[in-house]
Amino acid sequence: MKLWQMFSRAMLLRCPSCGKGQIFRAHCRMFHHCECCGRQYDQADGYFLGSIYINYALTALFVVIGYPILVFGYGYSEDVIVWLAFAFCLVFPLWFFRYARSLWLGIDQLFDPTENSQDADETRTL
Ligand SMILES: [Zn+2]
Repeated sequence: MKLWQMFSRAMLLRCPSCGKGQIFRAHCRMFHHCECCGRQYDQADGYFLGSIYINYALTALFVVIGYPILVFGYGYSEDVIVWLAFAFCLVFPLWFFRYARSLWLGIDQLFDPTENSQDADETRTL
């Protein structure tokens, strides 16, 4: 599996193994496994802890980059920016939750391909 393939599957919220099955059935409800290839998504307790790191890191990165741009580039007052950043820090992680989990699944697939994945099969035949 290539990096761009992992990233595109993650952004489409598709199974990291086959790219066909959906990961989420509703906004916060995941399927237990892929309906196409059978890959199990939630592999152990605490498996998705890494997705929280992804979500936090991206949220913090946007605030750290956006704050000086809005203050020094556009002249917004710091009071306004603090409230905007506060609102962003509440809303963005909730919206990005699914993508963070999907990215985490993709990163896991990239570094530790599951046995039932097509990529693992391709690797074995090479
Ligand atoms: Zn699948």
